[in-house]
Amino acid sequence: MSHSTSAQNVPMFEIENLHASIEDKEILKGVNLTINKGEVHALMGPNGSGKSTLAYIIAGHPSYEVTEGSIRYYGEDILEMSPDERARKGIFLAFQYPTVIPGVSMANFLRMAVTNVRTAKAEEAAANGGTAAKFTPREFRRLMKEKMALLKMDDAFANRYLNEGFSGGEKKRAEILQMALLEPALAILDETDSGLDIDALRVVAEGVNNLAGPEMGILLITHYQRLLNYIKPDFVHIMMEGRIVQEGGPELALELEEQGYEKLWAQIEEAQAR
Ligand code: ADP
Ligand code: MG
Repeated sequence: MSHSTSAQNVPMFEIENLHASIEDKEILKGVNLTINKGEVHALMGPNGSGKSTLAYIIAGHPSYEVTEGSIRYYGEDILEMSPDERARKGIFLAFQYPTVIPGVSMANFLRMAVTNVRTAKAEEAAANGGTAAKFTPREFRRLMKEKMALLKMDDAFANRYLNEGFSGGEKKRAEILQMALLEPALAILDETDSGLDIDALRVVAEGVNNLAGPEMGILLITHYQRLLNYIKPDFVHIMMEGRIVQEGGPELALELEEQGYEKLWAQIEEAQAR
């Protein structure tokens, strides 16, 4: 890969003037967002503002049509890549994975998912004249144990069947463990639904706090300020009606909790009236 040689001044991940539609309805109306290694970004905004749409488009969901703008990863346009290729490049989206696969244990599922990415990396490295080791099952077990210890997860969790009877917290635990194993460069977590109970919230927060580091950029999508009581983002972006309407540091999330979206709605209406 060309990352380290040619990427000095190129942002890791850059969305520029992104417009996107579904069934001819424009949802994203010019989104700009840049994420670099080591940064934690929170994307907030009321329901229906387009946050999940953005996540789906980054993942390569086929239902959405990008009509204008670009998404670049180390300068490379990812819009032409398959979801799989994006994953192999190091973009991780927590929700793109299957919800229930009958009879597959967590350990086996994760080994397949991680091996898929690692094998592709090894092949790519080999094609470029380098080397990168593939995993043996034993190595995978060791790595998984290590990551589970880091995340303070019970060993028995690995032997559970995927998502079968998982609580909200356990589903989140599975996602966070997968993220830990894949060691993505960019992790996108869409914490959408009201089903996020305290346990799930804690799992996500602890996971992100344990895994965030200088090598990873994180985009945390939520409309809950309370998640940000546990995770301190470096940057907060507020999306409304398909655009990022305000940006700032962690204080912005607190402001938003106090003031709600009222003031921003008023500003949007004022701008539209002009
Ligand atoms: P958020 O995640 O911020 O709550 P979404 O991205 O889910 O917002 O939705 C943004 C807008 O796109 C909403 O108005 C929603 O109704 C619309 N939308 C999302 N998915 C579809 C779809 N499959 N078909 C039609 N409209 C959709
Ligand atoms: Mg959403």
